Amino acid sequence: MKEKKGFTSLFPVLISGALFLAVAVLFFCASTGIIRAEHEGKPQYGQWHQITDSTLDTVALKERVYDRRSFLTIPLPDGVGEEDIRIEDDYLNQCIRIKIPGCSESFFQYNYFSGDMTHIQNIRLDEEEGIVLNLEGIYAPEAIYEPGRLFIRAVKARDLYDRIVVIDAGHGGEDEGSAAYGIREKDITFQTAAFLETELSERGIKVYHTHTAEYGPTEEERATLIEGVDPDLIIGLHTDADGNTRTTVGERVVTRPGLEDKAERLLSALTDYSGRKNLGVSTEKAKGLFGITEKPLYAVRLGFITNRAEAELMGSADFQRGAAEALAGAVSEIITAE
Ligand SMILES: [Zn+2]
Repeated sequence: MKEKKGFTSLFPVLISGALFLAVAVLFFCASTGIIRAEHEGKPQYGQWHQITDSTLDTVALKERVYDRRSFLTIPLPDGVGEEDIRIEDDYLNQCIRIKIPGCSESFFQYNYFSGDMTHIQNIRLDEEEGIVLNLEGIYAPEAIYEPGRLFIRAVKARDLYDRIVVIDAGHGGEDEGSAAYGIREKDITFQTAAFLETELSERGIKVYHTHTAEYGPTEEERATLIEGVDPDLIIGLHTDADGNTRTTVGERVVTRPGLEDKAERLLSALTDYSGRKNLGVSTEKAKGLFGITEKPLYAVRLGFITNRAEAELMGSADFQRGAAEALAGAVSEIITAE
């Protein structure tokens, strides 16, 4: 009886030990490239390359083991290398564009797509746009290249990125926001947003924009994007205006009740950089973006466009870059501390 009991209690240890060993061997094989997709039709695993945005220049952020059957397999013409492929994540239009040289309709007449279509509504071939995967919602492309084949699938942004920020640059499209002294709010917010994306990316944070300078989505579309990417925080960019005196100056942040401390960190990072007046943090419950998302939201007011000195400052690339760097540092700290 005693012996049997001893064996029984040892059994789970043996099982978990064997499992651990199997996983360890699998990871070792994948990281050394031993496992390759050489046998058609069998479960295949391989090295993983993360392809970000529209370029393949930044591949292999980390290596993982994947079942290739969960990807859509796109055959590639002879001689197409990893560097020839461009993948565009057009999340605002809920599609992924894949540009591959030599991929014409006639090529795909004899070389078929295969594999998994999860989250992919349909596939379209377009001379200009390349292969267009229309998605069922907001998903990010994850791809693996292999000579002769591209494996791609649409996944939740959260499955790919640990830290995500949504930038909501004020105005865009027909809506130019405020303007004074020949300087437009729209230009300030979108230029600063571009610098902010660069700074956040350098800190390992994935950035999504609610819209482009040309295209202004509806509130519903912005809500869909925010829900789809599930960001750690949202940062709004605007300028203030006081057309009556034109002398009001300073920077401030509007946030949701309960987030004042973090908003203050963000604001003081900005004013420490700029040396401008700190107008403090105020709270807002349900206006604009505050009304369509529960996510932590910080609406940064970069300065008064109606004041000539501040308008000219905000219009300069130096200020935009410096403000972006200061904000990105604070954002990174705030997210990491959470
Ligand atoms: Zn505005």
